[in-house]
Amino acid sequence: MGLIVQKFGGTSVANAERIFNVARIITDEYNKGNNVVAVVSAQGDTTDDLIAKAQEINPDASKREMDMLLSSGEQISISLLAMAIEKLGYPVISLLGWQAGFVTDSTHSNARIKRIDTDRLFNEIGKKNIVIVAGFQGLNRYDDISTLGRGGSDTSAVAIAAALKADCCQIFTDVDGVYTADPRKVPNAKKLDEITFDEMLELATLGAQVLHNRSVEMAKKYNVDLEVRSSLENVPGTKVKEVAKLEKMLIKGVAKDTDCARIAITKVPDTPGIAFKIFSKLAQKKINVDIILQSIGHDGKKDIAFTVPKSQGKLAVEILKDSLNFNDETEIKLDENVAKISVVGAGMETHPGVASKMFEAMFESNINIQMISTSEIKISVLIDLKDADRAVVAVHDKFIK
Ligand code: ADP
Ligand code: ASP
Ligand code: MG
Repeated sequence: MGLIVQKFGGTSVANAERIFNVARIITDEYNKGNNVVAVVSAQGDTTDDLIAKAQEINPDASKREMDMLLSSGEQISISLLAMAIEKLGYPVISLLGWQAGFVTDSTHSNARIKRIDTDRLFNEIGKKNIVIVAGFQGLNRYDDISTLGRGGSDTSAVAIAAALKADCCQIFTDVDGVYTADPRKVPNAKKLDEITFDEMLELATLGAQVLHNRSVEMAKKYNVDLEVRSSLENVPGTKVKEVAKLEKMLIKGVAKDTDCARIAITKVPDTPGIAFKIFSKLAQKKINVDIILQSIGHDGKKDIAFTVPKSQGKLAVEILKDSLNFNDETEIKLDENVAKISVVGAGMETHPGVASKMFEAMFESNINIQMISTSEIKISVLIDLKDADRAVVAVHDKFIK
């Protein structure tokens, strides 16, 4: 007899029929003699709808109240799913994040799980209950509800699997696995049987929303047996693991991230300490800087450009304008119409030429590259937002035949 953690995303529980479908997946597993803990997201577009409601009332609402609101979406889906399982005749109980023992730090809207107090979960499992847990939420040390960031239910599920030492964690979603690119955008995208934690972490961080990046980080840390599979079709999914079997694929995937903005500071003095001045000011205000580009100086001046998340672009510019007294020539420009396209694959560590092949794809599609950044297993380029979808297809088709 084992312990299985299953997670169901918003589309998988979007209406009554889908909820019964999920109830059957869970009870089938229970019928095999396994204990099942299921983590559930809010139904369909509920979270987006709640955000829109808040915007109508107060676009500057505090993050605490936003968390109070957004966490309610999952309360609806766990209770409805539990009712469906009751109706099928099985013992079941639904639990909110705090009832399931989720303790987080106090960063509202992007909280990190500090620990799970597992007593209640083990207690319910001991009673042979199927346990349905609200994803995406926990309680901080002030006894306030926190949420884990968009897409965070994946992380709730992996965290439970790690804390309970479950046999596996299955992420059920609306596609049947991890593909070489978003299968809704790239018709030639191929399903992967396996992908390594490191590759999946890069893809998730670089915009492939199929898994929350922190769920992958956690699965790697606690070596959770992780699979992404479909809630609509009973077919094998994609295994995410430490070492994937050797295959010839150089590139595992292409991702697009549109949540970025570029800030360019032009004609700053070409003297020591400028980069420190700029980036320390941003770090103090917890602005996340990603790609950084600094040009060679001319006539005692140089340009520095970098990217930040779109939501932090205006704030970053304000901070820099307020705190740095550059001369009149210096300009700070914000461009929110950019996107980052990345290729990811552990194979590129040992195979040169990936970057040039990627740039060739951009050239053939007449797409201008504004910035480039690389690591051992990924290459990213920053381009104009309007070219983003075209770029993904071009790069994907260059590497994956
Ligand atoms: P859920 O609500 O189940 O959490 P998400 O919408 O968060 O589902 O994630 C699934 C979606 O991720 C898919 O519908 C797909 O469009 C998108 N996606 C983006 N990149 C990929 C990829 N490389 N492989 C599979 N799906 C991807
Ligand atoms: N409901 C939350 C969201 O839409 C969490 C999740 O779906 O994982 O972001
Ligand atoms: Mg998701």
